[in-house]
Amino acid sequence: MTDAVRLQNVSRQYTAGDRPAVYDLSLTVGDGELFVLLGPSGCGKTTTLRLIGGFERPDTGEVALYDRLVAGPGVWLPPEKRGIGMVFQDYALFPHLSVADNVAFGLTKMPRDARRARTREALDLVELLDYANRYPHELSGGQQQRVAIARALAPQPRLLLLDEPFSNLDADLRHQMRGDLVHILRRSGLTAILVTHDQQDAFAVADRIAVLNHGRLEQVGSPDELYGQPRSRFVAGFVGQANFLPGRADGKVVETELGPLLALDDPGAPAVEVLLRPEDLVLELARDGQGTVDERVFRGADTLYRVRLRSGALVRVTQVGGRPLPVGAQVHVHIRPAAAPAFAVATVSQAPVVLPS
Ligand code: ATP
Repeated sequence: MTDAVRLQNVSRQYTAGDRPAVYDLSLTVGDGELFVLLGPSGCGKTTTLRLIGGFERPDTGEVALYDRLVAGPGVWLPPEKRGIGMVFQDYALFPHLSVADNVAFGLTKMPRDARRARTREALDLVELLDYANRYPHELSGGQQQRVAIARALAPQPRLLLLDEPFSNLDADLRHQMRGDLVHILRRSGLTAILVTHDQQDAFAVADRIAVLNHGRLEQVGSPDELYGQPRSRFVAGFVGQANFLPGRADGKVVETELGPLLALDDPGAPAVEVLLRPEDLVLELARDGQGTVDERVFRGADTLYRVRLRSGALVRVTQVGGRPLPVGAQVHVHIRPAAAPAFAVATVSQAPVVLPS
């Protein structure tokens, strides 16, 4: 399969002496993939997107789009020659142009009829044909975003780049737009790369996600791979709630405060940390239990408990249904049997981390 994007050892430093915004980044995006760049503020997501789009030049390394080198030693193709569409964070619509004229803006070289037809097609794709004659200020945030997407799609790029597409939307609209965006992108059949700092946005839209931290790639994988088999403490904590418990490994058997666990691989060192998701744990009222309920948050579909263990460690546990446990209750914390046997092992700094898959 052709790769839509290939970054090879790409670095970009804005200011001498500063940490590079992106460092030695290598990744590929498949044709037709919905790919997300995820990470905290300042981790280099936007810089990576701009390197792909040609709005930044790499200091070192290569960028190839559909097997064509577009940036590298002695090679440089500007953004307008890369066949990409870009949706900016603030949408960057022209306020004095109608929706239709905004969408037609990049089609100046086409004959008038073809231009009109292409504009209608793009507006139809984002379901805004009825709004063609309105102006941006007469639209909701979600509709403005769809105009920006239609404008980026109208010249029929092979690759669409979207910078924080949901950041200007309130919570309800954000939820709806995630679904709408996936629908639009799947229907267009395009390869799309989205930047977000929000794990839920990423999980909702991505085929695969690249997690960045301090300009470096931490891990690439499908949402369930990242959640179930994170390769670092950072990824484990960034893509979901994580309990890390200290453990002592003897071969594949790891002793923890909550009992023994079986690792998939021998961690290779005795001091380990075990990752347990809140849904991997179960609470049971017990006078001689090893924990005390410290906090309870009812969330509708489930309840999130914070439990203090004898060692002082805090663990978060989600329970679905069942009798509510009061704050102060003495509880036994079990590891859900299904969570125990499947483990991946990763090594982070000095101590290996044992991570359930
Ligand atoms: P955010 O989610 O906050 O937008 P990000 O992950 O997209 O962050 P980048 O915008 O790529 O991160 O920035 C990465 C680093 O590079 C940051 O430390 C930032 O301050 C720095 N940086 C970004 N653009 C420039 C610039 N034009 N000049 C100097 N430094 C920059």
